[in-house]
Amino acid sequence: RWRKRAQALGIDINAKKPNLIVSSGFQVVWEKFCVYWDVELRELPMKSLEELYLDPKAAVAACDEYTIGIVPIMGITYTGTFDDIVALDKAVEEYNKTAKISVPIHVDAASGGLYLPFVNPELVWDFRLKNVISISTSGHKFGLVYPGLGWVMWRDKQYLPEELLFKVAYLGAFEPTFQINFSRPGSQIWAQYYNFVRWGREGYKAVHEKSRDVGLFLTKGLEKLEIFKILNSGENIPIVCWMLKADEKRAWTEYDLADRLRYYGWQLPAYPLPKNLEDVSIMRVVVRADQSMEQISLLLKDMKDSIDYLNEHVTVKKDVQKTEDTVVGYSHNEKRYKK
Ligand SMILES: *Cc1c(COP(=O)(O)O)cnc(C)c1O
Repeated sequence: RWRKRAQALGIDINAKKPNLIVSSGFQVVWEKFCVYWDVELRELPMKSLEELYLDPKAAVAACDEYTIGIVPIMGITYTGTFDDIVALDKAVEEYNKTAKISVPIHVDAASGGLYLPFVNPELVWDFRLKNVISISTSGHKFGLVYPGLGWVMWRDKQYLPEELLFKVAYLGAFEPTFQINFSRPGSQIWAQYYNFVRWGREGYKAVHEKSRDVGLFLTKGLEKLEIFKILNSGENIPIVCWMLKADEKRAWTEYDLADRLRYYGWQLPAYPLPKNLEDVSIMRVVVRADQSMEQISLLLKDMKDSIDYLNEHVTVKKDVQKTEDTVVGYSHNEKRYKK
């Protein structure tokens, strides 16, 4: 759409790559999209631990005639925090008043899209905002079906260009197809359809509210341990994340705790935050429908035992220093730092 509109406005579409604006909290799909489609990813760093979201003013300041869209996130993968899309919509509205070419908003609601309408329908982040043109969400997250299913919705038919809909006649009817691959299984769609029909709005609400309660129960338990700073309590979406409070005497890290929890059979990740905040490591639990209070109680008990163990046995602080070769990612702490 951008290319067609830009051409009509006399913008030289070959002078620069088109660009897409997103916060550094983006999920890897956006990096893939930009590489595959030859789009410049304009990544805006999240400012601080207190501001783990896209700055609407900075987002608009980064726009130019080559901007194909801004992507706020409802449920940032790292932390579960939300971008302020009401504020972003306002900023975009102002920008578009004088812009040569208007900028649309696409909401990455992978986690929030099939959660918020059931649990917090009053929260405004969607097509109720004028500049939100498209929304994507994962059926396999809070849509409660198995992996591989995602959805994208456009505000209106005009926003999905006709040229991207291919019509084939050889299946016995004119069949419009819009996707990269041609054949794909229908089973996932049936699963989603079945769940919607079987549980309905009330059912989804009940399932998600239970997940929220389990998440809040986890947060409470973590607070009782007194050594963690909670970054997301799970009140907004059942993604609970936390980090260790600073303590000069403690000789172990979140990575050591993750390791020790494996001894009990838990795979609970520790990982660094993205650009600007990569020195901060956090731990995260995404609560899903099949997690129970009982399971969380066991986790908390094992966590307490792990902490006691680490306090007793890990007493010498490793002298770690970040270097050029520091591996940032979901890596083991041994590899994360070079002595
Ligand atoms: C999971 C996730 C994605 C990727 O969605 P898939 O359905 O797994 O392909 C994109 N963005 C965010 C914010 C996510 O959490």
